[in-house]
Amino acid sequence: MKPLPRLGIFGGGQLGRMLAMAALPLDVRCSFYEPAAAAPAAVLGPCLGDARHSPAGLADFLASADVFTYEFENIDVALVEAIAAHKPVYPGIVSLQKAQHRLAEKSLFGELGIPTPAWRPVHSREDLEQAAGALGLPMVVKTATMGYDGKGQFVLRHSDELDACWDALGGQGSLIAESFVAFRRELSIIAVRAHDGQTVIYPLSENRHQQGILSISRVPAAAVTAATLEQAQTYIRRLLDHLQHVGALTLELFDTEQGLLANEMAPRVHNSGHWSIEGAECSQFENHVRAVLGLPLGSTACPRPTAMLNIIGRHPDRDKVLAVTGAHLHLYGKTARPGRKLGHITVSADDPQTLEGKVAQLQALL
Ligand code: AMP
Repeated sequence: MKPLPRLGIFGGGQLGRMLAMAALPLDVRCSFYEPAAAAPAAVLGPCLGDARHSPAGLADFLASADVFTYEFENIDVALVEAIAAHKPVYPGIVSLQKAQHRLAEKSLFGELGIPTPAWRPVHSREDLEQAAGALGLPMVVKTATMGYDGKGQFVLRHSDELDACWDALGGQGSLIAESFVAFRRELSIIAVRAHDGQTVIYPLSENRHQQGILSISRVPAAAVTAATLEQAQTYIRRLLDHLQHVGALTLELFDTEQGLLANEMAPRVHNSGHWSIEGAECSQFENHVRAVLGLPLGSTACPRPTAMLNIIGRHPDRDKVLAVTGAHLHLYGKTARPGRKLGHITVSADDPQTLEGKVAQLQALL
């Protein structure tokens, strides 16, 4: 048997950790470009590189693996290009660039006929005022880059908040203004594309957020019509094929009276797919590893209704969580801090009603 390539991962957070955990049974060794020695992934392989991105650190990382990927999209593209000049990096740099910039991302959605909330680019106080006039209020103003978990956002409800909004975000580069969507719920879809274009798609996940951070995902999302599922699958396929993407891609969607609207994409495994470790026949992490290494993809089937609850800010009583029948506890090895994702819990059941009982039990512990 041909030895498998070694996998280098940009980032050593919990996503890197779970990618490496999925790679291990396949006997694939991982290394990480990660300056924090105590990063969640450090228990699974060497963390290389340093915070100053020295050429020596990058050279060590380059030498440590044969194929490369990333666990987050806010990496300096120049670093990825420096690796890509010598060895393969998947998903490609175009996927990364589009996902790093909300204006590029929303333009791409438009080019591919993927509906979004109405939006305007904002580069000045005057643009902001014009956007408010064109889109109406309320509108959501976001930094074009580096935003996550609702950071770098301002919901502008009244025109007398224009100055406050500009004061908060005006100094942070390009902005995007979007009309405020009164969605019914938030959904996400994750798909994984192989080198030959073969694509597998996970069921739609229904996601609830608290203070901008994902708190619970339920899969498969309830009461999804065949038309809605078809829309979501069509949109993610268009993106994957256009980007010639290899690996996992996540598309976050708003479910509205008028159909699905795309919010944003992530060129990677995603928090709303953590349920798949126990809930799917092959997890998002394993399928991502398989895709980037050119291995056959696994089934995305979700045999039983499954929920994933994030552990945020504070660790729950471990023994009480483990006492809930069927609960799977995942801790990321992080110290507690308000708003920090410390772990998650997955639970499945034979029917949605039993599942909700277990969810309620677990929620009481969080
Ligand atoms: P984002 O960083 O774009 O994923 O936004 C974080 C959260 O803000 C989303 O999960 C939504 O709950 C909310 N949000 C973002 N954009 C809009 C919008 N245009 N209308 C209403 N809510 C939004």
